[in-house]
Amino acid sequence: MIINLSKLLDGSENIVKIDDVFDLSYLNIRGKRVEFHKPLALNGGIYKTDDGIFINLDISYEYTDVCDRCLEEFTNKQTSVLSGKIIEKAEDDSKEEITIYLDKGKIDLEKAIKKVIVLDFPMKSLCNSDCKGLCPKCGINLNGEQCECDTTDVDPRLEKLKELLD
Ligand SMILES: [Zn+2]
Ligand SMILES: [Zn+2]
Repeated sequence: MIINLSKLLDGSENIVKIDDVFDLSYLNIRGKRVEFHKPLALNGGIYKTDDGIFINLDISYEYTDVCDRCLEEFTNKQTSVLSGKIIEKAEDDSKEEITIYLDKGKIDLEKAIKKVIVLDFPMKSLCNSDCKGLCPKCGINLNGEQCECDTTDVDPRLEKLKELLD
């Protein structure tokens, strides 16, 4: 995903619009393989101000994930925003999490796009915010079925104790 900024740099334009797609089949995120079924949509632009060159890009994507509670696969839609200053390679590595370097009048967005998605990825994957999960006793998916198990909330640490006492 290389973008040529020569027109921004020579002053003939103040903005380079981005309305494009980016092919990404999967990313490994915190040990999980997250798959993207269609190209990511990129919308935004790169603009020049007195303070430098900046990017503001919406990245819209759809991915499959596995629910942490019911272990079912689900699809999620997300839009992440990539924004920040584009810096010259000569400048020292800033502490910003995502850095885009200008290299011979061009920038490569691939790494930054992947990084934004990884940073935006939820710590907890849920198919639905009120997913009922699996029955801790019999393991059925409580979103669609019901069981007769005694599901009075048991602290997992106490459960071990209860097993020992039984
Ligand atoms: Zn679920
Ligand atoms: Zn059950």
